[in-house]
Parts: sequence; structure tokens; C-alpha cells
Amino acid sequence: MTIKTVQPLIPTAENPWFVSVNQLKEWDKCHAQFYYKTVLKQRWLSDESNFELGKAVHALMDLNAKGMPTKHLRVGLKPNILAHFDALVEHPLAKAPVVASEYAFYLPFQVEGFPHITLTGRIDRLSLYNGTLAIIDWKTGTAVPHDYATAWQTRLYSYAIWQMRNALGVEASLGMHFYYVDVRTNRQPAVKVYTVAIDADYIAETEGLLKQVLTRILAEKRFALPSACPDKYCRFSQVCGINPETTAQLPLFGLPQGVGKPCYSV
Ligand code: SF4
Repeated sequence: MTIKTVQPLIPTAENPWFVSVNQLKEWDKCHAQFYYKTVLKQRWLSDESNFELGKAVHALMDLNAKGMPTKHLRVGLKPNILAHFDALVEHPLAKAPVVASEYAFYLPFQVEGFPHITLTGRIDRLSLYNGTLAIIDWKTGTAVPHDYATAWQTRLYSYAIWQMRNALGVEASLGMHFYYVDVRTNRQPAVKVYTVAIDADYIAETEGLLKQVLTRILAEKRFALPSACPDKYCRFSQVCGINPETTAQLPLFGLPQGVGKPCYSV
């Protein structure tokens, strides 16, 4: 089944494309979901309580990285949040010298014929650990990707930091590792670390993959639905065509002028 549209993704100076990990994951998962979210920029409200633990722990870890006191903030915080923070902050990776915390990057990326593309993301922490530069991602609720060595998050963040080592004041000769630090206080040990060594070959491979997938996306004019929906929480199920019986009855939004109604084919 395919959703047809005449609105491709065309980055311009006024409307550049900021490429994120989530977009790349959405493209891999479902081209139609990518179309709704990235091309049409459709969003929906999410339940903020789902993010309470992660947001609070990341904020505390950021204060910790900057040498700010956190003791006075403990009053009133939920025991679950404190338990996760206390477990993380005792790990050697959290005690390593900090290069940057909550580091947002914007890195221009060249795709032939499309000059207005920027890679973007926010990295939880950069540290000097075991003689190499550590790119650290605290996992406080969402799972570590099962293919973490080749996941888009590992690739995109590593590629950006590799290119920005000079700007960060890090010597290019220093090695680099990506660390997913997964904390769950209902198991032993509470903290598990997943490590990926990053080298020039990995970065070259990543650059090639990024060029390949971005070129493919920019050439896309039909956004195919998968044979089965891969995301049971996706709110576009009412409009994408995967459920034909609800699609016609409950449109959540209209397509932009000139696009016309999506047409579905099997
Ligand atoms: S509901 Fe499923 S098939 Fe439809 S856009 Fe979302 S992820 Fe894709």
C-alpha cells in the first residue's frame, strides 16, 4: 500500500532541513510517518508524565557535570528519580573530566544539489575517559538500541563530534568511544554500559550511509506504507491508510493546498 503525494522534501535557505536521529529512525521505520512528521511537520501532544524520570535525571546530571550543587534539589523529588541519579552519578563515566554537557550541535552536511542541510542533535555528555573522548548517552527509560553499534544515534552523534573535535579543543589524535549508560534501579547491577569504538573507518562509512539515505529521501515522491504498521502508538493510523475503515471517517488534518487528498493503492 502506498501513499502518493506531490510534496517532496525540498530544503531551502528559508526552510532548511535539520536532520535528527528521530527523523532517520522514522524513515527506516515507516516512510509515511516520516512524511507526516518531517515533510508536513505534523505533531501531536504527548503525555509528559512519560518523560518525567528522564528529564529530571538528565537535568540533575547536567548540574552535576557543571559542578553545581544538587543536594538542595533533593527535597520534593520522587524517590525513583533520586535512586536513578544516585546510581548514575557514582559510575566512573560520570566522574570522568567533563568536556561538555547537554551539548547541542549543528553541523552543515553536503548532499549534492542540496546546500541547506544541517545535522543536529543534543549529546548528554562529552568526557575524557580512559584516555579517549567519550560520547555519553544516559538511558533512563528508553531502551538501548538493540543494534547499538550501528544505530543512527551512535552514527550521527559520533560523526558530528568527530568533525567538531577542533572546535571542542580536543586533539584529533585522541581516540573516541560512544557509551550508552543504561540505568534501571530495579535490577543488579543498576548501571550497564554498552560501548562502541569509533575510528576513521566508522566515520567514513557513516558519511557514506548518511549521503545515501539523505539522497534517497530527497528523491522520494511517494511515501510507501509498510505491509503492517510498525508503531502501535502512531497517531497517524487514522489518516495514513493502514486502516482504510477509519481513514475516510476521521481525518486528523488536511493536506496542504495544492497537494490534494492522498490516494491509496494496494
Ligand atoms: S500508523 Fe503505522 S503505518 Fe501509519 S504512518 Fe504510523 S507507523 Fe506508519
